[in-house]
Amino acid sequence: REPVRSICCIGAGYVGGPTCAVIACQNPKIQVTVVDLDQARIDAWKSDHLPIFEPGLRDVVQFARDEQYSGHETRPPNLFFSTDIDSAIVSADLIFIAVNTPTKLVGQGAGSASDLAYVEAAARRIAEVSTSDKIVAQKSTVPCGTAHTLRHIFASVAQNSDVNFEILSNPEFLAEGTAIRDLLSPDRILIGSNTDRRALQAAERLADVYAAWVPRERILTVNCWSSELSKLAANCMLAQRISSINSLSAICEVTGADVDEVAQAVGQDTRIGSKMLKASAGFGGSCFKKDVLCLVYIAESYNLHEVALYWRRIVDINEYSKARFAKWIIQSLHNTLDRKKIAILGWAYKKDTGDTRESAAINVAGQLIAENAHVAVYDPEVRPDQIISDLTQHHNTDALAKKVSIHKNPYSACEGASAVVILTEWDEFKTDGLPSAVANVLDKEVLEVPLVSVPRRTSEDSRGSSERSWVRDDYSRDERSAENLAESPVFEPKTIPLRLCKK
Ligand code: NAD
Repeated sequence: REPVRSICCIGAGYVGGPTCAVIACQNPKIQVTVVDLDQARIDAWKSDHLPIFEPGLRDVVQFARDEQYSGHETRPPNLFFSTDIDSAIVSADLIFIAVNTPTKLVGQGAGSASDLAYVEAAARRIAEVSTSDKIVAQKSTVPCGTAHTLRHIFASVAQNSDVNFEILSNPEFLAEGTAIRDLLSPDRILIGSNTDRRALQAAERLADVYAAWVPRERILTVNCWSSELSKLAANCMLAQRISSINSLSAICEVTGADVDEVAQAVGQDTRIGSKMLKASAGFGGSCFKKDVLCLVYIAESYNLHEVALYWRRIVDINEYSKARFAKWIIQSLHNTLDRKKIAILGWAYKKDTGDTRESAAINVAGQLIAENAHVAVYDPEVRPDQIISDLTQHHNTDALAKKVSIHKNPYSACEGASAVVILTEWDEFKTDGLPSAVANVLDKEVLEVPLVSVPRRTSEDSRGSSERSWVRDDYSRDERSAENLAESPVFEPKTIPLRLCKK
């Protein structure tokens, strides 16, 4: 069969960019062009400041995007980024659709159904401009039946009836923060297709692209419905584990059981396994919530109300976890946050990504601000304008400027704070600098995991001059001293054993 020579990927986001960079690296003979409507995003992909942070991504992109010299040989670049969508479509044999599929905000299914407007727009563009046969591989996470719908769109829009479109489902299973590792060594590649000869051949041609580095036995070919549902099912079952352990952590707190001990004991059961069993303030990220809600909507559409209710509770428990987390902080500070500074370390929804979509930090910070706290935020990878945009999108903007400050280092964020809340499990919060100092004044039992630390007074509680921070005003990186902090006569740290680990 004809090998694929040219790939176009529509959507240069968290999925399209890293996936195509790895495909290009592993297939030097295939020309890979990633296109997007967003000029700024494309410019960033062409620069040294990639639009997303992902460990290992820069090396992979540079390897395939820039000309490489070794001895007398050169490796010409085969990874390109462009906003010229039409040209990339025309010259491609294989087109990935990797555009966003957020939850619908208005109309039928608002609040749970997936918004397929971007997928449909991309498909229409392919149908309108194509002049030769194409394999269209749907990579966005979509409801079951989308491949079927796309076939209708192609049949009705295609100008040139001689052009054949083979629609495949090829969902992406990478997780942000480990995207390159996941792409280089995937648990499986899933390809859904129809069962006629042409469709199966298209699936094989796509499989050949992955077979450049993925063992054949890990490339699964199934029907389109199974492929689409498997992606949703995987995310729903992962989200379900996090909501399960979070609901158990609530029971632990009232019974005296330790949620980490429970997670370890349960996780060592090989039938269950240890992953995704860290209690947290709730899962975040762009996928879990929207994908669970998408499954809820599918179940509702088929009148499977009990099934819909079951999955909806996974999201409900997640909202409850975030609310319970903020409540803990408020209660630990004597039920008032008025004029108190709370340091928030970490804004991304999990470590090793700058992505803040659905981050629990946005919700928790909003609840603290509503209690009149001043929130001081530090995150190593999230830009200040993103933090402001997250807060203004989700919360009342009145007087936000006075209630939020964004810091370039954790030390100034913590200075004078009544509490330090670690909301992203960045390694630097576990091992380096200030967090070590924080860790030294905390219960040793919880040193290795992100946690919320709320310093609590042991002397009479009052405002004014005695409202000293456990982080000294003159505290500097070089002179930090755990002993000084530990010996403070005013505060005794209280730890809240809620550990954070998201998707
Ligand atoms: P994203 O928002 O980061 O990127 C999507 C990109 O598509 C945007 O840059 C947008 O400008 C572009 N786009 C939208 N419509 C377009 C069009 N008609 N033409 C050209 N460009 C267009 O989204 P993402 O995180 O990469 O996710 C993409 C899909 O993959 C979603 O369905 C998501 O659920 C799924 N997914 C995401 C992850 C993840 O970890 N982020 C993992 C697996 C699957």
